[in-house]
Amino acid sequence: MSDLPLPELRADCGACSALCCVVLPFDADQGFGFDKEANTPCSHLCADFSCGIHARLVEEGFTGCTRYDCHGAGQRTTRLFAEVNWQAAPEHAEEIFRVFSTLQQLHGQQALLALALGRVAAAPLRERLLERQQQLEALCRQAERQEPVALDAVQTATRRLLQQLASEPAIIALRTFPAREP
Ligand code: SF4
Repeated sequence: MSDLPLPELRADCGACSALCCVVLPFDADQGFGFDKEANTPCSHLCADFSCGIHARLVEEGFTGCTRYDCHGAGQRTTRLFAEVNWQAAPEHAEEIFRVFSTLQQLHGQQALLALALGRVAAAPLRERLLERQQQLEALCRQAERQEPVALDAVQTATRRLLQQLASEPAIIALRTFPAREP
């Protein structure tokens, strides 16, 4: 098994170019205030990548924003494209958005595996989860090189692993995937 350093799985919005506020679609029915197409900036997003209504998101009907977590994919993508950002260099926006979109799904699965690892004590099960973490990190690096990742198959494989471990009661609650697809 390879031993790749695993990514930070907590969002650091201060180190991000507000990618979730642009790349993800909004649906008013799901707590995002209004409907918004994918890859379109939220109308409340400021030029410095801060949120113009951050202090009153709930009152404004944006509870979805308060629940969303990119699990570190935002700052990872922003760091990868440190020389450019989607706002100042719109010619790079498509590739930046594509990488973020892939990383946020892979990081979402990484976060589930980390949760599972925190609940499973048996060594053989832990080995399988650790191996899957390494596979997902290898795919993150593939995405960073802008090589295609078969996300449906990847998600199915992670879900199957968690289902196979379903006899572990602590795992049962984790068999959902929180990442939103653009
Ligand atoms: S993409 Fe992640 S790090 Fe960036 S603003 Fe959204 S939640 Fe924060």
